[in-house]
Amino acid sequence: MKQTPQQALCSWFERHARDLPWRRRPTPYRVLVSEIMLQQTRVEAVRDKYVAFLKRFPTVRALAAAPVEQVLQAWSGLGYYRRARMLQAAAGQVVSLHGGRVPRDRTSLLALPGIGRCTAGAILSIAFNQIEPIVDGNIERVLARMHRIARPKQGPGVWKLADQWVWQGAQHGLAPSSLNQSLMELGATVCTPRNPRCEACPCAASCAAFKAGSVARYPALVACKRKQRLRYLVLAVRDGAGRVLMQRRDEDDNSSLLPAGLWELPHAPWAEDQPPPLSQVCGQTGRIETMGEPVTVRHGIMHYDVQLAVQAAVVAGKARGKWFTLRAAEKAAIASATRKALAVYRR
Ligand code: SF4
Repeated sequence: MKQTPQQALCSWFERHARDLPWRRRPTPYRVLVSEIMLQQTRVEAVRDKYVAFLKRFPTVRALAAAPVEQVLQAWSGLGYYRRARMLQAAAGQVVSLHGGRVPRDRTSLLALPGIGRCTAGAILSIAFNQIEPIVDGNIERVLARMHRIARPKQGPGVWKLADQWVWQGAQHGLAPSSLNQSLMELGATVCTPRNPRCEACPCAASCAAFKAGSVARYPALVACKRKQRLRYLVLAVRDGAGRVLMQRRDEDDNSSLLPAGLWELPHAPWAEDQPPPLSQVCGQTGRIETMGEPVTVRHGIMHYDVQLAVQAAVVAGKARGKWFTLRAAEKAAIASATRKALAVYRR
């Protein structure tokens, strides 16, 4: 008997699924953590961080009770730190409102901080095996091609198709968990944005774009905005013992593109094409003397191409901030841009 696309894909998934740590024991808490980490972040970047994060906060109660700095430190390198704060806030509400159990209904999940329709769908289908759809970037692309939808973001069409996918599959006795994860896996490994491997695709027989020979047209390309360039002067100030001066901005201080609340090197933005006067950055540190020329490193943050001109300096008076050994600084809750600037300091 001819297989349905859901059957073909689920049996392909059984044979080809990547061994990812969050697939090994998908409890509701572990799915919650992995889904939040994977938002806008590559699987490879998440893999090790996820394992370390769960080691440090093995339960929702442990995460809820942890000092926020520890959570940010464990998140360090993943970017978009707001997600870490939201995840901890969600853990707090799971403990205070739901007795420490991640809720198993959509309404309660959507009421938690940082949880949208996609994350709720992932928790319900993967952890609780409920018939709930997911639409992440991978699923959106696969369904757009299978059904020849040029602009999947315009309208509810893809959510409807994702819903049909999981409902129809469940009618044939397939697990919602596999139905959704197989679709995600297909998008991540076969139906990729560029050069999809249609010849290896278990769904090729039911893919409208493939049959029409028009895969490249779906989904339609959206013109990318050019990244805006920003520059910062960054001070790598050290003391006689070789320690480095770090500071931390208040949570509501948005004077920098770097996330507030993390440890960072003193820095200030260029205005137009001019570096900020040293006095502006020194105002944050106390009196300093610069050494040599700045070294420029580049870093991408969201839609910005950021250039950091890292200036070595020594402190000539009383400094404002906290002194860290280089090793301690690299282990602290710092953003990736700060890590890159510290690497210059290490040189
Ligand atoms: S046949 Fe090609 S375009 Fe269609 S779902 Fe498979 S990989 Fe994607």
